[in-house]
Amino acid sequence: MGGAPDKHPLNNPTKEKPDATVKPVDWSDFRDHIATADREGRRQWIYPRKVSGPFFRWRTWFSWLLLFIMFAGPFITIRGNPLLLMNIVERKFVVFGQIFWPQDMIIFAVAVLLFVVSILIFTTAFGRLWCGWACPQTVMMEMVFRKVEYLLEGDAPSQRELNAAPWHAGKIARKVAKQVIFFAISFLVGNVLLSYIIGWQPLFQIIIDPPARHLTGLAFMLGFALLFYGIFARFREQACTFICPYGRLQSLLLDENSIVVAYDYKRGEKRGPLRHEQKYGERRYAGFGDCVACNQCVSVCPTGIDIRNGTQMECVHCTACMDACDNVMTKVGSPRGLIRYASLNGIERGERLRVTPRLVGYSVVLLALATVLGLMIFTRADVEATVLRASGTLFQQMPDGHFSNLYTLRIVNKTSRELPVELRLEQPAGTLQVMGGKLVVPPQKLLENSLLVELEPAAMKSGTTPLLLGVYCDGRKIQTLKTAFVGPRN
Ligand code: SF4
Ligand code: SF4
Repeated sequence: MGGAPDKHPLNNPTKEKPDATVKPVDWSDFRDHIATADREGRRQWIYPRKVSGPFFRWRTWFSWLLLFIMFAGPFITIRGNPLLLMNIVERKFVVFGQIFWPQDMIIFAVAVLLFVVSILIFTTAFGRLWCGWACPQTVMMEMVFRKVEYLLEGDAPSQRELNAAPWHAGKIARKVAKQVIFFAISFLVGNVLLSYIIGWQPLFQIIIDPPARHLTGLAFMLGFALLFYGIFARFREQACTFICPYGRLQSLLLDENSIVVAYDYKRGEKRGPLRHEQKYGERRYAGFGDCVACNQCVSVCPTGIDIRNGTQMECVHCTACMDACDNVMTKVGSPRGLIRYASLNGIERGERLRVTPRLVGYSVVLLALATVLGLMIFTRADVEATVLRASGTLFQQMPDGHFSNLYTLRIVNKTSRELPVELRLEQPAGTLQVMGGKLVVPPQKLLENSLLVELEPAAMKSGTTPLLLGVYCDGRKIQTLKTAFVGPRN
């Protein structure tokens, strides 16, 4: 029969050649071993193919923003304080310009709880959106190191061929260049991390001073660089599979309403390759779904899994398989979204995201914690003082018959300005002497000083006498300290 030629894409398959260097994989036992290891436990190197598509474009733009924040972060200040500083050595922490000291441990504990609960809620509702879009490991691996690799060694098939080829000048040059660039980026990233710990000024000092003056700092610089080099050059996706606990939490947090990267098996199965002679209707009649078994979703996956087997621990929700499959669907003229963001209920029953009792419960806890944290930060004192009796001392009797006790005073100034502090003995009557004269606490510092308190015997009780000390700043009482005065027993 003549007539117009059949233009349906299902009957005009893509010209794209299958990747001859990809070994056929038996996915039927995918639950018995991870995709990056063979049955004997040997590492299977993953060569993900380049991907293109809208999700990849949005992720790229978002990654540029995150990388900019990451690299610019140490130089951004809020009211003179860094945006973020985690100085474990000096036990000083700055978040969004707010300084937190070890004395703020309770605030820190509530903030950690809040962070954990937000992760629970977020993961329950949206799966591992964080991993695919914002995790530094994924951003650095897929948007920086992987791109350097593509630039120097080409797409996955070229990389396989290069690795299989005998050593020659071209291969050596490309491999050396890649490792040098990888190490340089790792060194840069290590320095950025270090500047979030000690601040960029001390880091700059380490760089410009003679090496002998900062051996510890240099050791950390090198250590961080080697750590990141090891992760991004060799360890790669295994950091997500073996080390990161978040992926393992998935099985606890996800339920049938969580949004995940999912293959619509109802639409896709039974999968089967396109055949030239097969008409669209014939394909449907033969029981085939939209999946044309092209394996593009597998070949782009950076963790080497087949999403058609369902949600798996290794999946970092990077959306590469969504883009790859959408490209195939477009070519064959089927609707996009065979692999998409969806919940199990969404695929099985066509349900939209539902607010489950679990989600409501987590949200209530989150709101309560956020309120507590907000109150704690809002009412947090700028100055915090503690007083303890000096160790190894008891009491002394003066020539005039008065008794004295020695104390150690610690004052933390959490502000960015110098604070003059005054101490007054409020109860009982007596004298208080600050050793070394006036108390002036430098900004963001801890001041330690000694105090001598003298009481006349009439003001003392037998054994210990409770003391109340008032801490004043700018003429305003900011804290009352309680301690004990030790004297003889009657
Ligand atoms: S890319 Fe899409 S069509 Fe191709 S195998 Fe994967 S799910 Fe099937
Ligand atoms: S299955 Fe898809 S979303 Fe998950 S890691 Fe692989 S490519 Fe990324």
